[in-house]
Amino acid sequence: MSKKILVMPGDGIGPEIVAEARKVLDFLAAERGLDVVIDEAPIGGAGHDAAGHPLPEATLEKARAADALLLGAVGGPRYEKLERHLRPERGLLGIRAELELFANLRPAILYPQLAGASTLRAEVVAGLDVMIVRELTGGIYFGQPRGIETLADGQRKGFNTLVYTEAEIERIGRSAFETAAKRGGRLCSVDKANVLEVSELWREVMERLAPEYPDVELSHMYVDNAAMQLVRDPRQFDVIVTTNLFGDILSDAAAMLTGSIGMLPSASLNASGQGMYEPIHGSAPDIAGQGKANPLATVLSVAMMLRYSLSQSAMADAIEAAVGQVLDRGLRTPDIAAEGEATVGTAAMGDAVVEALAASD
Ligand code: NAD
Repeated sequence: MSKKILVMPGDGIGPEIVAEARKVLDFLAAERGLDVVIDEAPIGGAGHDAAGHPLPEATLEKARAADALLLGAVGGPRYEKLERHLRPERGLLGIRAELELFANLRPAILYPQLAGASTLRAEVVAGLDVMIVRELTGGIYFGQPRGIETLADGQRKGFNTLVYTEAEIERIGRSAFETAAKRGGRLCSVDKANVLEVSELWREVMERLAPEYPDVELSHMYVDNAAMQLVRDPRQFDVIVTTNLFGDILSDAAAMLTGSIGMLPSASLNASGQGMYEPIHGSAPDIAGQGKANPLATVLSVAMMLRYSLSQSAMADAIEAAVGQVLDRGLRTPDIAAEGEATVGTAAMGDAVVEALAASD
């Protein structure tokens, strides 16, 4: 039976980069037998423009029925003055929560062709390939109680709650162990167990799961040390699993090790394997509409979709190989070009990936 893909271009450069990813999907469907039905729906600012809400009911309905979702990016200056619950980012948080996309997989891969793009020395980052598995629907971003209160003395107090149940830790733990088993077999669980009780429980649950995954070697690291180790010697890591807050910060740091935000995809999965796939970058309003955006993070998000939600790992490999070939040919959008290097636009980059795919069999 055909798999259903819902494409949500969103705002800013979203529609431009998603159009290139569509070319790749359309090619695979037309020429390589990928059996998919593709639909589109507005989200974020585009959702607000179309239906008065960043996550229109019709979009959510289609999302629930889809096997996989492809998102461009949301947000932009036009929407910054909207009330908080109507802002584009609420669409994103809303869909993550509604679909229970609790496991966020963020690879940080440094393509050898782009080693010069990192701010770290090439010998520290060459060949970098780390996967960060971040818990996405729990922890301090969602914990109750939360708020800002005025105390008896007139001073205000802000508070949030860091909370994880054993079940929440176990399900992200399992995703991480399974991910590590498919990669290099090393999983580092990052916590703050020397200070936080939640982290103590986190560590205990990870330890309890470990014997079920004999091919995976589990280690633990405090988050402050992990931040340091990521910039000191990032290649020591294979898979990192951590909480929502720590993962938010560490995955951005890891992304920056590669120096090219326009190259990094991500996946957010739920327990049934349904996933939302998106580049890690935002809507880049500064370059929107100029045909300059790098579509490769979105194209690579399609590869992740094929691997994790559509069981088409050979096609995923082919896309990743095609991206490598395009880089080998020297094609660069402005964000990944060295000074003085010739550049190509968004559409030319997408076309080149499809050409490279067509040349492979
Ligand atoms: P951003 O990621 O949009 O842009 C940061 C910088 O990177 C900009 O200079 C931009 O031009 C560049 N950049 C980003 N993606 C690129 C690409 N594919 N090709 C070339 N250059 C690229 O982050 P920001 O400027 O902080 O945020 C802009 C808007 O995006 C805000 O409204 C923010 O809320 C939103 N945002 C959305 C998401 C998302 O949809 N998942 C994530 C982050 C930020």
